[in-house]
Amino acid sequence: MKLIFEKSSAGRKAVELPKLDVPEKTDLIPTNMLRNELSLPELSEIDVMRHYTESSKKNFGVDNGFYPLGSCTMKYNPKINEDISRLPGFTSIHPLAPESLNQGALQLMYNLEKDLCEITGMSRFTLQPAAGSHGELVGVMIIKKYFELKNENRTKILIPDSAHGTNPASAALCEFETIQIKSNDGGCVDLEDLRKHMDKDVAGLMLTNPNTLGLSDKNILEIAKILHDNGSLFYCDGANANAVVGVVKIADMGFDIVHLNLHKTFSAPHGIGGPGSGPVGVVKHLDDFLPVPLIDKNKDNYCLNYNLKNSIGQVRAFYGNFSVLVKAYTYVKSLGREGLPEVAKNAVLNANYLMSKLKKHFDLPYDTVCKHEFVLSDKGMPNHITTIDIAKRLLDYGYHAPTIYFPLIVHGSIMIEPTETESKQTMDEFADVMVKIRKEASENPELLRNAPSTTPVKRLDTVLAARKPVLKYEE
Ligand SMILES: *Cc1c(COP(=O)(O)O)cnc(C)c1O
Repeated sequence: MKLIFEKSSAGRKAVELPKLDVPEKTDLIPTNMLRNELSLPELSEIDVMRHYTESSKKNFGVDNGFYPLGSCTMKYNPKINEDISRLPGFTSIHPLAPESLNQGALQLMYNLEKDLCEITGMSRFTLQPAAGSHGELVGVMIIKKYFELKNENRTKILIPDSAHGTNPASAALCEFETIQIKSNDGGCVDLEDLRKHMDKDVAGLMLTNPNTLGLSDKNILEIAKILHDNGSLFYCDGANANAVVGVVKIADMGFDIVHLNLHKTFSAPHGIGGPGSGPVGVVKHLDDFLPVPLIDKNKDNYCLNYNLKNSIGQVRAFYGNFSVLVKAYTYVKSLGREGLPEVAKNAVLNANYLMSKLKKHFDLPYDTVCKHEFVLSDKGMPNHITTIDIAKRLLDYGYHAPTIYFPLIVHGSIMIEPTETESKQTMDEFADVMVKIRKEASENPELLRNAPSTTPVKRLDTVLAARKPVLKYEE
């Protein structure tokens, strides 16, 4: 496919402006302030239409295919969310308008916060963070300030080796030393290793739960106790709450701080599809560390509360990605108290169904009931076929690849998350293709090594792309 610049033809245009019906004036802007001629492509309306329609067909999204990208929760985003977020009452307001004119928007955020508190058992939430990782940063900033105000110099954050990669990055950004805690054979935190690392320097532990193996830690209450006995805080990376939403409350597991990913669990399009939102919830004694403003209610009026004694400050302009909040609120209200637990149950059921089909054909390092996802590996593949070959071959069959080579604790990992919105039929078809690829690996490995062969772009030299990126179109 050609670039739009390559399709340009001098003099062609898509708009026909009416004839000038006032005297022409050419000296309104001094010549030295005039912009140079821009080299924009020149095309007719139909050229433009075809170009973008053709480009859109080369895209892959949840709306046109199965997208089992582990840890990312690429599930179907109900279109009613879009309809509601586009209501003029939401799109035409200005964030700087007085509170009295934005009561509806404030009410929505107030109610969403109440719902997230109900779902997680936390005391209060900030809706400001613009992504999961941004939520982690906010959580770690709260941990930092908490100990500063107690005059305790705690320098370490513990992070299990099955955590999401953003966790150590967030802790490091706040200048904590990050200490890795080992997993045991069952894929859960090794309690011996944890106890060994507990001392008065430990500010907290960040647990991805369910972890990146798709497992919920069996010793969660014990871990909480070990931390709390040491005066440390317990942080939950709850980005993948679709495994637990409506079934178990995160606060009941002993966590003090949690972030959620509204753009995963609560179905707003993400990745290239749209912006994110990573609200952070805390238990009662940490309420006034949250970023300002919080949304409060004063008699019948919703208002912005900047009066939090220990607040870490504002972390984003205005109130966060408001349109994502509208979509998440729509999702929570459409499913309600009965629907939300079904999300978690089906996410877990689907993952276990697919896992049980695939484990007969691929190595499954942690063979146990999983939550919303599971991790296979390329161990034992014939003809030196590796994970990347399997992932690329899946593209030929019209699927998005799973997450690969992550988590790092499994060599050659293939992390599959079917999500709750896929049917049994879709999962069966995917499993059949995986089994077929397994067979090709024995009988015709070149097919895998040369994959993909049907996509617009073939196998890329990723090392070259990383070392010498071409980021600019040169004529
Ligand atoms: C996706 C994810 C994150 C990061 O969220 P972003 O919105 O991409 O910043 C963090 N932790 C886990 C477990 C995740 O799955």
